[in-house]
Amino acid sequence: MMHLYNSASRHKDEFKPLHAEQVTMYCCGPTVYNYAHIGNLRTYIFEDLLARTLRLHYPLKHVMNVTDVGHLVSDADDGEDKMELGAAREGKSAWDIAKFYEAKFWADYDALHCTRPSVVSRATEHINEMIALVKTLEEKGYTYRTSDGIYYDTSKFDRYDALVGHARICGLQGGARVEMSDEKRNPTDFALWKFSPKDKKRQMEWDSPWGVGFPGWHIECSAMAMKYLGHTLDIHCGGIDHVTIHHTNEIAQSEAATGEKYVNYWVHGEFLILRSGKMSKSGGTFVTLDVLKEKGYEPLAYRYLCLGAHYRTQLEFSYESMDSASKSLKNLRALAQQAQEAAGGAAQDTENARAWKDKFTAAMEDDLNAPKALAVTWEAVRSAELSAGEKLAFLQFADSILSLDLFKQSAPARQELPAEVEKLLAERAQARAAKDWKKSDELRDAIARAGYIVKDTPKGQQAEKK
Ligand code: AMP
Ligand code: ZN
Repeated sequence: MMHLYNSASRHKDEFKPLHAEQVTMYCCGPTVYNYAHIGNLRTYIFEDLLARTLRLHYPLKHVMNVTDVGHLVSDADDGEDKMELGAAREGKSAWDIAKFYEAKFWADYDALHCTRPSVVSRATEHINEMIALVKTLEEKGYTYRTSDGIYYDTSKFDRYDALVGHARICGLQGGARVEMSDEKRNPTDFALWKFSPKDKKRQMEWDSPWGVGFPGWHIECSAMAMKYLGHTLDIHCGGIDHVTIHHTNEIAQSEAATGEKYVNYWVHGEFLILRSGKMSKSGGTFVTLDVLKEKGYEPLAYRYLCLGAHYRTQLEFSYESMDSASKSLKNLRALAQQAQEAAGGAAQDTENARAWKDKFTAAMEDDLNAPKALAVTWEAVRSAELSAGEKLAFLQFADSILSLDLFKQSAPARQELPAEVEKLLAERAQARAAKDWKKSDELRDAIARAGYIVKDTPKGQQAEKK
């Protein structure tokens, strides 16, 4: 039985799908104006764990959008469109920017073994559906016009603060985050359709019954989620930052338009943070998967790091924790491969193995307790209670959720070495080429004093931290 923490009820609720023949899940996707940072990727890893766990029991329709227009610099409809800003920054068209960063996003997503959604929907390919939804809201009296767009009147929707709770909405109203334009009726009102500026030609714009312009970011998700998944979804996911504005606005639009409940379970992942503070794309302080790869880490080591923290706790990123995740992954693989060899590749799916699988599944079904599932995996692999064949059966199953390539040999860690050690290694390579063994040994000692052990392998010298 699966339990999920539901941001709407503020409880861990038993998961009961609307239709067991097909569970529906919508995940807010990337805004493709820049690289995804590893914080964004943490959210997709947790969503992948959720998808894989749900699939143990149900067929799943998983929809993810790609925001390629309309996400303004402030979530509250102020500032410029991130896509057009990206275009100006790089001297490319907004369309090219979207194409480039979307491709990059999927490369990262795949490298982290996140399962591709059943449907990927691009905002720019669903403008008609968005216009239709705004029209419905207009007919029902939820909209008004200002000089820069069509706005949603949040005072007309009496459950507007349901997701966040009254206190936080009040905080939001008083806060600096929402700059109240003179024409907005309420601080929380938001744009459904924005007009193109009169003095500037936008690259991405469309005709609409209200004038040429582009959709608001929130209407994108409502229109696409309901197109593919119906008026009521089982699950809607995203990062915790989306609770107060984006998801609150999605509920307001969707429920006002259909008169039905929009989402049964709201599931939000906590942030990855840096010691120095928040990881932010627009602020420029972000680490990408490419940066980790350049430093010699394999993408799955980052997945391992994320699995080690519950998705509802903040995770502070550091290179020390990446080092330890890499090491643990390597050790877990070595033990998995030992079991595979000892069993001669023959998995034994006995009652005992199944009992361990159940322990693993129970952890995942308890609000995705991946740290516990990982601990069960470590326990199993070291346990004398399981034969090698049973371990193999368990590990094959565990890896279908963890997806850490447990049966693949780890690449030797390529760590960044301090410049001093690099220099000593280069000198030692020269000494060895000149068959000066005495000097080579002296340099080995110097390297050891710097904290590294050097090994001579058929591929040359390899230095590892002591
Ligand atoms: P974006 O591409 O900015 O629209 O964000 C994509 C996803 O990443 C959303 O679900 C965000 O809530 C989530 N997100 C943004 N920053 C972080 C972070 N530092 N840690 C975890 N998730 C994040
Ligand atoms: Zn969204």
